[in-house]
Amino acid sequence: MGELIKIENMRHTYPGYDGQEVHALTDINLTVEQGEFLAVIGTNGSGKSTLAKHLNALILPTGGKCLVAGMDTSDPANVWNIRQQVGMVFQNPDNQIVAAIVEEDVAFGPENLGVPPAEISRRVTESLALVNMEEYRHHGPHLLSGGQKQRVAIAGVLAMRPKCLVLDEPTAMLDPRGRKEVLDTVYRLNKEGITVVYITHFMEEAVAAHRVVVMEQGKVVLEGTPAEVFCQVEKLKAMGLDVPAAAEVAACLREQGMTLDETIISDEQLVVALCP
Ligand code: ADP
Ligand code: MG
Repeated sequence: MGELIKIENMRHTYPGYDGQEVHALTDINLTVEQGEFLAVIGTNGSGKSTLAKHLNALILPTGGKCLVAGMDTSDPANVWNIRQQVGMVFQNPDNQIVAAIVEEDVAFGPENLGVPPAEISRRVTESLALVNMEEYRHHGPHLLSGGQKQRVAIAGVLAMRPKCLVLDEPTAMLDPRGRKEVLDTVYRLNKEGITVVYITHFMEEAVAAHRVVVMEQGKVVLEGTPAEVFCQVEKLKAMGLDVPAAAEVAACLREQGMTLDETIISDEQLVVALCP
């Protein structure tokens, strides 16, 4: 389908608060294919958020390149265009809601893009439908649950009709129900065609991705299908990461001598393997 994002030997060094430079990213090479669901995992401080911010030119590489739809993020002439192609969703839904009514909040992005009012109204309807929040159109966002607010934030991004959604731990502040609402929404949007880069520290959320990359100390240290990555139970644990519960149970059972496929990473797969 072709690559939407191409990162070549990219580095990011922050000046640091105390004069000490922080090498947040070193020599990142990564591509994101159009239509792909890419999950990014890694411990705190491994560089995930720094990577995310490059994808819509919120920060610029201090070495190497980041190309979005062929456009170099370092060229100021591209920034406007890049921000329309790649929409960002952050951890805290309260920091992303700007208006007092849901529909006004969703309209905010396209208004800034200068989209005509009738078209904005169409886009608000369409975007709220995509995240199953139509019935809250006239509500005040402060009355919504965390999961609902996060879906409104996603609708606000969708209203700008981006090709790619980048979500940086969008479920970290939500309860299990809100987490599921948001996760289901994002996977569904991907099935409908939007490219997704999904940063998470909940391994279960990455199990259904097309591809997983694991970051450690500013580098991509593992990359592959969820099965390829999550079967490396010992390696992930040594990095301080969890593994999906099913992968861990399967690994324990294998150690006890049971013959179980290396590709078991989800609860469903484990159940099928144990109760054929
Ligand atoms: P993650 O999202 O995986 O937790 P970050 O990308 O936020 O990682 O951070 C990577 C590293 O860069 C960490 O060491 C962090 O302290 C540092 N860092 C992040 N933002 C800044 C900043 N604005 N100034 C200086 N250092 C930063
Ligand atoms: Mg982060």
